[in-house]
Amino acid sequence: MGFADRYVFSLNASTLQDDEMHHATEPLFAAAVADNVGAGIGALLSRVKYADGSISKVFESGTQNLAHLVRVWSALVTQKGEERKWVKIRAEWDVAAATALYRRVAERSLAHWLDGKCKACNGTGVTAERRFCTTCKGSKQEEVGGQGFERDRVLDMVSELDGLLQAHNARAAARLRRIE
Ligand SMILES: [Zn+2]
Repeated sequence: MGFADRYVFSLNASTLQDDEMHHATEPLFAAAVADNVGAGIGALLSRVKYADGSISKVFESGTQNLAHLVRVWSALVTQKGEERKWVKIRAEWDVAAATALYRRVAERSLAHWLDGKCKACNGTGVTAERRFCTTCKGSKQEEVGGQGFERDRVLDMVSELDGLLQAHNARAAARLRRIE
Protein backbone atom coordinates (compact mmCIF):
# COMPACT_ATOMS: atom_id res chain seq x y z
CA MET A 1 0.00 0.00 0.00
CA GLY A 2 1.28 3.48 -0.80
CA PHE A 3 1.27 6.30 1.68
CA ALA A 4 -2.00 7.84 0.48
CA ASP A 5 -3.77 4.48 0.59
CA ARG A 6 -2.52 3.74 4.09
CA TYR A 7 -3.52 7.24 5.18
CA VAL A 8 -7.07 6.78 3.91
CA PHE A 9 -7.12 3.28 5.42
CA SER A 10 -6.08 4.60 8.83
CA LEU A 11 -8.74 7.31 8.66
CA ASN A 12 -11.31 4.60 8.04
CA ALA A 13 -9.99 2.22 10.67
CA SER A 14 -12.72 1.84 13.27
CA THR A 15 -10.40 1.74 16.25
CA LEU A 16 -6.82 2.88 16.12
CA GLN A 17 -6.06 1.29 19.49
CA ASP A 18 -6.83 -2.20 18.25
CA ASP A 19 -3.55 -4.18 18.32
CA GLU A 20 -4.16 -5.63 14.91
CA MET A 21 -4.66 -2.11 13.60
CA HIS A 22 -1.80 -0.68 15.60
CA HIS A 23 0.27 0.14 12.53
CA ALA A 24 -2.67 2.14 11.20
CA THR A 25 -1.79 5.10 13.40
CA GLU A 26 1.58 5.52 11.69
CA PRO A 27 0.32 7.28 8.55
CA LEU A 28 -1.67 9.67 10.72
CA PHE A 29 1.52 10.51 12.57
CA ALA A 30 3.41 10.94 9.29
CA ALA A 31 0.71 13.25 7.96
CA ALA A 32 0.92 15.33 11.12
CA VAL A 33 4.68 15.64 10.70
CA ALA A 34 4.34 16.54 7.01
CA ASP A 35 1.76 19.13 7.96
CA ASN A 36 4.17 20.64 10.47
CA VAL A 37 6.91 20.94 7.86
CA GLY A 38 4.39 22.56 5.51
CA ALA A 39 3.19 24.86 8.27
CA GLY A 40 6.77 25.83 9.06
CA ILE A 41 7.64 26.93 5.55
CA GLY A 42 4.18 28.47 5.07
CA ALA A 43 4.65 30.68 8.11
CA LEU A 44 8.11 31.62 6.90
CA LEU A 45 6.80 32.49 3.42
CA SER A 46 4.13 34.67 4.96
CA ARG A 47 6.63 36.44 7.22
CA VAL A 48 9.13 37.11 4.44
CA LYS A 49 6.54 38.18 1.89
CA TYR A 50 4.36 40.37 4.07
CA ALA A 51 6.00 41.16 7.38
CA ASP A 52 9.60 42.05 6.69
CA GLY A 53 8.87 45.31 4.92
CA SER A 54 9.33 45.96 1.25
CA ILE A 55 10.78 43.13 -0.78
CA SER A 56 13.73 45.14 -2.10
CA LYS A 57 14.56 46.03 1.48
CA VAL A 58 14.46 42.35 2.38
CA PHE A 59 16.87 41.45 -0.43
CA GLU A 60 19.25 44.27 0.45
CA SER A 61 19.38 43.64 4.16
CA GLY A 62 19.41 39.85 3.74
CA THR A 63 17.30 39.30 6.83
CA GLN A 64 17.54 36.07 8.76
CA ASN A 65 14.06 35.05 7.71
CA LEU A 66 14.99 35.29 4.05
CA ALA A 67 18.31 33.46 4.49
CA HIS A 68 16.48 30.73 6.38
CA LEU A 69 13.76 30.59 3.74
CA VAL A 70 16.30 30.23 0.91
CA ARG A 71 17.86 27.26 2.75
CA VAL A 72 14.56 25.54 3.53
CA TRP A 73 13.18 26.17 0.04
CA SER A 74 16.36 24.93 -1.70
CA ALA A 75 16.19 21.72 0.33
CA LEU A 76 12.52 21.27 -0.59
CA VAL A 77 13.15 21.90 -4.31
CA THR A 78 16.06 19.44 -4.25
CA GLN A 79 13.79 16.84 -2.69
CA LYS A 80 11.09 17.42 -5.34
CA GLY A 81 13.66 17.40 -8.14
CA GLU A 82 15.02 14.04 -6.97
CA GLU A 83 11.56 12.55 -6.46
CA ARG A 84 10.39 13.72 -9.88
CA LYS A 85 13.67 12.74 -11.54
CA TRP A 86 14.34 16.09 -13.20
CA VAL A 87 17.83 14.85 -14.01
CA LYS A 88 18.64 11.26 -14.87
CA ILE A 89 21.78 10.40 -12.93
CA ARG A 90 23.96 8.26 -15.17
CA ALA A 91 27.41 9.54 -14.30
CA GLU A 92 29.13 11.53 -11.61
CA TRP A 93 28.89 14.84 -13.49
CA ASP A 94 25.11 14.42 -13.66
CA VAL A 95 25.05 14.88 -9.88
CA ALA A 96 26.80 18.26 -10.19
CA ALA A 97 24.44 19.29 -13.02
CA ALA A 98 21.42 18.25 -10.95
CA THR A 99 22.63 20.16 -7.88
CA ALA A 100 23.18 23.31 -9.97
CA LEU A 101 19.74 22.95 -11.58
CA TYR A 102 17.98 22.54 -8.21
CA ARG A 103 19.73 25.64 -6.90
CA ARG A 104 18.85 27.77 -9.93
CA VAL A 105 15.22 26.63 -9.91
CA ALA A 106 14.95 27.27 -6.15
CA GLU A 107 16.45 30.76 -6.36
CA ARG A 108 14.63 31.86 -9.51
CA SER A 109 11.24 30.60 -8.35
CA LEU A 110 11.59 32.23 -4.94
CA ALA A 111 12.77 35.54 -6.43
CA HIS A 112 9.86 35.56 -8.89
CA TRP A 113 7.35 34.59 -6.22
CA LEU A 114 8.56 37.28 -3.83
CA ASP A 115 8.83 40.04 -6.41
CA GLY A 116 7.45 38.96 -9.78
CA LYS A 117 5.91 42.33 -10.57
CA CYS A 118 6.38 43.76 -14.06
CA LYS A 119 9.16 46.34 -13.72
CA ALA A 120 7.94 48.50 -16.62
CA CYS A 121 4.59 49.32 -14.99
CA ASN A 122 5.45 48.49 -11.37
CA GLY A 123 2.89 45.73 -11.36
CA THR A 124 -0.05 47.98 -12.21
CA GLY A 125 -0.59 46.89 -15.83
CA VAL A 126 -0.65 50.59 -16.77
CA THR A 127 2.35 52.79 -17.64
CA ALA A 128 3.17 56.17 -16.06
CA GLU A 129 1.54 57.76 -19.15
CA ARG A 130 -1.64 55.86 -18.27
CA ARG A 131 -1.23 53.57 -21.23
CA PHE A 132 -1.70 49.83 -21.40
CA CYS A 133 1.62 48.20 -20.43
CA THR A 134 2.93 46.41 -23.49
CA THR A 135 5.82 44.78 -21.59
CA CYS A 136 3.57 42.51 -19.52
CA LYS A 137 0.52 42.94 -21.80
CA GLY A 138 -1.52 43.94 -18.77
CA SER A 139 -0.78 40.79 -16.78
CA LYS A 140 1.13 42.90 -14.18
CA GLN A 141 3.57 40.02 -13.85
CA GLU A 142 7.12 39.86 -15.02
CA GLU A 143 7.77 37.16 -17.58
CA VAL A 144 9.79 34.24 -16.22
CA GLY A 145 12.86 34.29 -18.46
CA GLY A 146 14.54 31.47 -20.30
CA GLN A 147 12.75 28.60 -21.94
CA GLY A 148 12.21 24.89 -21.99
CA PHE A 149 12.55 22.45 -19.14
CA GLU A 150 14.17 24.75 -16.58
CA ARG A 151 11.66 27.57 -17.11
CA ASP A 152 8.78 25.08 -16.71
CA ARG A 153 10.28 23.82 -13.44
CA VAL A 154 10.61 27.43 -12.20
CA LEU A 155 6.91 28.02 -13.02
CA ASP A 156 5.98 24.75 -11.24
CA MET A 157 7.84 25.84 -8.14
CA VAL A 158 6.21 29.31 -8.19
CA SER A 159 2.83 27.50 -8.04
CA GLU A 160 4.13 25.31 -5.22
CA LEU A 161 5.01 28.46 -3.26
CA ASP A 162 1.52 29.86 -3.91
CA GLY A 163 0.06 26.58 -2.68
CA LEU A 164 2.18 26.53 0.47
CA LEU A 165 1.16 30.07 1.35
CA GLN A 166 -2.52 29.37 0.65
CA ALA A 167 -2.37 26.24 2.83
CA HIS A 168 -0.73 28.28 5.57
CA ASN A 169 -3.41 30.98 5.34
CA ALA A 170 -6.16 28.36 5.41
CA ARG A 171 -4.66 26.75 8.51
CA ALA A 172 -4.26 30.13 10.18
CA ALA A 173 -7.89 31.00 9.38
CA ALA A 174 -9.07 27.65 10.78
CA ARG A 175 -7.09 28.26 13.98
CA LEU A 176 -8.68 31.68 14.31
CA ARG A 177 -12.18 30.24 13.89
CA ARG A 178 -11.49 27.76 16.70
CA ILE A 179 -10.35 30.55 19.01
CA GLU A 180 -13.39 32.75 18.38
ZN1 LIG B 1 3.68 45.78 -17.05
